[in-house]
Amino acid sequence: MKGFVLDTSVLFYGKDLPDGYELVISPGVVRELEREGMAQRLELLLATRIRVSSPSKRSLAKVESESQRTGDSTRLSETDKEILALALDLGYQLLTDDYSIQNLATVLGVPYRGFDQKGITKVLEWESKCGGCGKVFSAEVKECDVCGHPTRMRSRKGPRRA
Ligand SMILES: [Zn+2]
Repeated sequence: MKGFVLDTSVLFYGKDLPDGYELVISPGVVRELEREGMAQRLELLLATRIRVSSPSKRSLAKVESESQRTGDSTRLSETDKEILALALDLGYQLLTDDYSIQNLATVLGVPYRGFDQKGITKVLEWESKCGGCGKVFSAEVKECDVCGHPTRMRSRKGPRRA
């Protein structure tokens, strides 16, 4: 095992990135971080530790078909599917706490590791807001428990979006 593929939330929390391994993210993760005002931190990470790579069409197609088969497809974002496909391409381990990503990783035979929530000190700086009804959740919640819409992460300190 030579490296890890990281999901967006791992970089939001930004703690305890595995030492001594290659760390890879997908273009979708870059876009999500930029959208959340993390461009500066991202630049630093890209300059020092992390490389961006796109998954093959073949792996993306496999992820898509397997996710439809397991029923995870609607719970997974395009970015989630990208990082699954990337881990498949590279033979790297996925670092993610997302249950749907972990579920599909198991199906695809992609090894994964959860992120140690206890070590997180910055979690309160982030929250999620439902795109449907507007209910606010803690940062790791990706789907609204009231109306089922996907949530968006935002900074609690930064400018609020409507
Ligand atoms: Zn909702």
